[in-house]
Amino acid sequence: MKITRTFFAISALASALAFAAPIDDIGALSVKGNQVVGANGQPAQLRGMSFFWNIAEEARDYWNANVVNWLAEDWHANLVRAAMAVEDNWGEGQKGYAYNQSGNQAMVEKVVDAAIAKGIYVIIDWHSHWTNDRSAKENGKDRWQLAQEFFTAMATKYGQYPNVIYEIYNEPGTDDWSQIKPYAEYIIPIIRAIDPDNLILVGTPKYSGDLTPVVSSPLSSNYSSNVAYVFHFYASEEWHLTNYLPAAKSAMNTLPLFISECGLTPASGNGTINYSMVNTFWDWLDQTKLSWAAWSIVNKDETSAALQKSASASGNWSESDLRESGKWLREKLRSVNPEWTPISGGTPTNPDNPSTPDNPSNPSTPDAPAAIAELHSATGFHFAGNTISVNLKGHSKVDLLDLQGRSVSTLWNGSANGNVALSVNAKPGLYLVRIQGAGIHETHKVAVK
Ligand code: MG
Repeated sequence: MKITRTFFAISALASALAFAAPIDDIGALSVKGNQVVGANGQPAQLRGMSFFWNIAEEARDYWNANVVNWLAEDWHANLVRAAMAVEDNWGEGQKGYAYNQSGNQAMVEKVVDAAIAKGIYVIIDWHSHWTNDRSAKENGKDRWQLAQEFFTAMATKYGQYPNVIYEIYNEPGTDDWSQIKPYAEYIIPIIRAIDPDNLILVGTPKYSGDLTPVVSSPLSSNYSSNVAYVFHFYASEEWHLTNYLPAAKSAMNTLPLFISECGLTPASGNGTINYSMVNTFWDWLDQTKLSWAAWSIVNKDETSAALQKSASASGNWSESDLRESGKWLREKLRSVNPEWTPISGGTPTNPDNPSTPDNPSNPSTPDAPAAIAELHSATGFHFAGNTISVNLKGHSKVDLLDLQGRSVSTLWNGSANGNVALSVNAKPGLYLVRIQGAGIHETHKVAVK
């Protein structure tokens, strides 16, 4: 047991030195002006796939770590979206969160845990069309209260992971922004009381198609910190091309946008794909660097479905397991996203028992072997009293990572010439400090007290 643990500690450190996963490259997301940016302040473009409604028979088996890993490794997705049903949408015996809170939440957690372990981003999506109308109860329950319970649990469990994005309301089925805004003003402070910084996505009128009403009445500064507005499009829908796209182009002059759902098909999710219109939309995404997640991972008999019935619930799909949308999206993602590289020595996740990621406040990974602490330091690295002392030259970056190489925070990103003291403000536990600069690439393990 001891030997195995030591091996993993070494392999995690070696990988942190050699490779970068998307979370390590891009880091914590924030909103600056009208843009979603990464830890380095540059526009962060996340691109990947949305899971289908978790309760649907043709979708639910894909909600697992193997599929997340396959999407990251083979499709080069750096983003997945867990679209959790709230209502009773499918009538197939499995119902949404209003009927079974723990069961639906457990499905979400399986996907989120896998994405964190893999080093990619994940959207926790409250997949509802009717949450704005508080008087209309579901299963006798108040949807706002349900959303409060769900996002309280999610922020408590995942708020410290930069991988996690909250989508508080997928597609409001109302044209009226003034009916959506109060819900956003209700739920955002609940999340912020627990998690002050992770990105929050706010759904917009007409199933997140029409941004015009939001432009004239955006959320006030009390609510808008690290908040982006949702724009959804279905590329083969004429109305989306001629009306929603121009409105989105205009809105993005002032509002940060995030495409948490988009498809190649007409808005119904089915019908003929028009590739000329598809290219118009995706060229726009490439130019604007907006993030997107495509609909969807499901083997349903409709054109927006990525998978054939033959597609295994353990991933490892061949070309013949993909439907038309799936083939196009996989090619697209592989052409625009860099190849995924391991952060934990390429150790495969056990599909039956995906490991829950280390919590920095309660690290379970044992001490790394002495050899790590003896790494030669060209920067005179010293750590005491939760303060790092280090000699930096020119432009340098110092990152705090967890023991699996995932970014926790950036401690320094700028120019320096000489000794710099950096205080580490993190929950007690073991971390890695990575120093990068001209000719410098060091990683040191520290115990924050
Ligand atoms: Mg946070």
